[in-house]
Amino acid sequence: MVTTPAAAPLLANHPAVQRVIAYDKQGSERGPGPLWRLAATVRAADRDAVAYCAQGSVRSGALALLARYRHRIGFDTSAGRLLYTRRVAYHASQHHAERLLRLAVGETASIDASDLRPSLFPSQADRTAVDELLALHGASREPIIALAPGSIWGTKRWPGFAELADTLSGRARIAIIGGSSDRHLADAILARVPGAIDATGRLGLLGSAELIGRALLLVTNDSLPQHLASAMGTRTLTIFGPTVPGFGFGPLAPGSLALGHEGLPCRPCHPHGPPTCPLGHHACMRDLPATVVAARALEATAA
Ligand code: SF4
Repeated sequence: MVTTPAAAPLLANHPAVQRVIAYDKQGSERGPGPLWRLAATVRAADRDAVAYCAQGSVRSGALALLARYRHRIGFDTSAGRLLYTRRVAYHASQHHAERLLRLAVGETASIDASDLRPSLFPSQADRTAVDELLALHGASREPIIALAPGSIWGTKRWPGFAELADTLSGRARIAIIGGSSDRHLADAILARVPGAIDATGRLGLLGSAELIGRALLLVTNDSLPQHLASAMGTRTLTIFGPTVPGFGFGPLAPGSLALGHEGLPCRPCHPHGPPTCPLGHHACMRDLPATVVAARALEATAA
């Protein structure tokens, strides 16, 4: 697997992955020289080797070609498609996990829903880090509801997490998931619920997955933690604002739900979520009351 440095830790310990190569394409390894050297590093081991160009860029296709992969498979809509030897139809109606799997199994193979869930393998060190965090908060034996209030896209951040935490804290201990850049969002929750467990910036990606895996429920924006929950099998309530689950990136854990401001004519407005609302009101998120989200979350934890 060739991936970004930020995503590489997610693949640690994975029994299906022999080698993870972190490629800093936007930073220290920018440009053709490092790409050429990477191609030598990942050169095809035999003449029937297959490169799956899931990422879709011209650079990924060029890497597979330079590394002498005889079979190069990717989507028919990708920028790098002219460099592929087989192009698989990109169906907008499919979940992205299905689209990716179909690069390998083909467009007509039958796929079971359980095949679509990603898999992650937290290490003993990740489990210990979570054990210690919970013990520090006296929460080793308590039921947990995980909240993930962050997103790199500003308009995908639902502003009601602090109020939601207040309501849900009567049902379970609240754990806040995120990176160090989400600390200010955690602080807003802690101001309402001082007993919440702040895991932001305190666990790595697989440690966060481990903590989510121990929760009754994850409530999250349309962002990375919902995919961690899909892998760990934790029921998820995902709040969608400028995006919709129909884009193919909704939660996959059994019993998961998606919630959004239905009927708002401007939704969806962007494939990822714009940095700021182009209409200025951000109604897709602001008009989604915490009482509604809390009611769905309580239903989900009762089921
Ligand atoms: S335009 Fe509509 S969907 Fe897009 S961010 Fe604004 S309120 Fe949300």
